[in-house]
Amino acid sequence: MMDDFKKVYCRGCWQQMKVPIFIRTPLSVPFRLMGIRPSRMHPNLCTLCESMFTRVKKNKQIDIQATVMFADLRGYTALSEQVGPDGIARLLNAFYDECAPAIWRRDGIINKMIGDAVLSIFNFPIEQHDHVHQAMMAGIEIQRKCAAVQSELRAAAGLDVPVQIGIGIHTGTAAIGEFGTAYKDFTIIGSVVNKAARLQGAAANGEILITEEAYSHIEHMYPHLEPRTYHLKGMEQPVIAYSVPV
Ligand SMILES: [Zn+2]
Repeated sequence: MMDDFKKVYCRGCWQQMKVPIFIRTPLSVPFRLMGIRPSRMHPNLCTLCESMFTRVKKNKQIDIQATVMFADLRGYTALSEQVGPDGIARLLNAFYDECAPAIWRRDGIINKMIGDAVLSIFNFPIEQHDHVHQAMMAGIEIQRKCAAVQSELRAAAGLDVPVQIGIGIHTGTAAIGEFGTAYKDFTIIGSVVNKAARLQGAAANGEILITEEAYSHIEHMYPHLEPRTYHLKGMEQPVIAYSVPV
């Protein structure tokens, strides 16, 4: 079942405060009356958690260890021209519907949908000792799912060309906070985010590229991957990355 990972209570509030905040079933009624609902970033977090992030951002920013994954829909501009705004909206919805549960099931949150790319974070606010592994497994599931539901995706948008996804993953220290004035939500910044985004741009259709920092966490699973050198836009130093088998 698609929704089997959804909990009755908020995972964030339980982990941070050891307080059960119910967000589903009749137990959630008193909380809903107080305006507490499931978060759009993750169905197992609540709007109370989101306001805790808001408090974090008022204290400028905090540094966290996190894994960032970018998954991007390929040929977006060409696709838009072929199917128009309605078709592209249906395609983006279908893309989101396929990607989101793969991320949520592994306790990642979707920080943003930036045009045609999904930015997800692992290890915040739900802590995971194996966040690189979880991000990689989410990436593999997204690629497999995209291949498996290819005809549905194309039918949703009215497309006659393949729908493909490129994925980039990086891990390290990032800053969480409010940056700029345009966004109400918190966001994540730092070289971890930039490198994951640039690497996603270098990934071939259907491919998952991970940095050598990320690879060091999962090398025991894939001991013989060949390192590749990438010269990424806006990065002075070449980046070593690995292509994870899907
Ligand atoms: Zn919560």
